[in-house]
Amino acid sequence: MVVVLGVLLLCWGTGLLHFIHVDSSHHTHSSQQTHVLSDRSKEAQTRQSSRGKFQKQKNLKKQTIAQKFGITSDDWRLVLVNRTHTRPEMNPALAQIDSRCAVDSRIASDLEQFLAHAQRIDRNVHYISCYRSVEYQHEVFERYVNDEMSAHPDWSREQAETQVKTYSQPAGASEHQTGLAVDLSSQEELNAQNPDLARKIQEIAPQYGFILRFPQGGEKSTGVGYEDWHYRYVGPDIARYITDRGWTLEEFIKHIDDVA
Ligand SMILES: [Zn+2]
Repeated sequence: MVVVLGVLLLCWGTGLLHFIHVDSSHHTHSSQQTHVLSDRSKEAQTRQSSRGKFQKQKNLKKQTIAQKFGITSDDWRLVLVNRTHTRPEMNPALAQIDSRCAVDSRIASDLEQFLAHAQRIDRNVHYISCYRSVEYQHEVFERYVNDEMSAHPDWSREQAETQVKTYSQPAGASEHQTGLAVDLSSQEELNAQNPDLARKIQEIAPQYGFILRFPQGGEKSTGVGYEDWHYRYVGPDIARYITDRGWTLEEFIKHIDDVA
């Protein structure tokens, strides 16, 4: 059944009004002229929709990593503390979540869930150290230097410091002062846990917002060798992005203005 709908078609390009006939199966029957106009309309629509698509792709393409993750210039998740970015005491607002662990209160819940999951893999996984003040880090570092000098009586203080820096950071250069870093392991000794367990913990970390801060092969950008116990909070989305690319935090920050 042919129904004359009398659709007013605003003619593209000419501004003329035309009637077209549409049957019940929605096929268009019209004069040759209307076909031409209809084709033109389709063309215009196609052009518009592909322009829309192109615009969308362009916008997506132009989105930087910073935009993708809503990163602000002083984003707390990405605060960088290392030997070339030392900081005075930051005094984060802490939450005490264990006798050995206080962290920035904003990450307490994620960290507790991370540990609980790690303990389901191996019940011996525990916190070793979380927030450390700059003052306390100074004491730790000095204690290590004295230990090295006692163990190697012929070493100068400088030699002892060089040695200590391979496993500990001087005061102001440790990100433990941010309250966003946590050492956890199934062992008390560093890099002593089963590599298979270390890998499993590393795999679940991003869903709770953590990255293994000093991964194997990351020494060039972090200046620190592999540490199987040191995790850093950056938030779940960024943690997944960094981990999937095998980046370090330093590399992520370097790429922050790149297209995502
Ligand atoms: Zn650590």
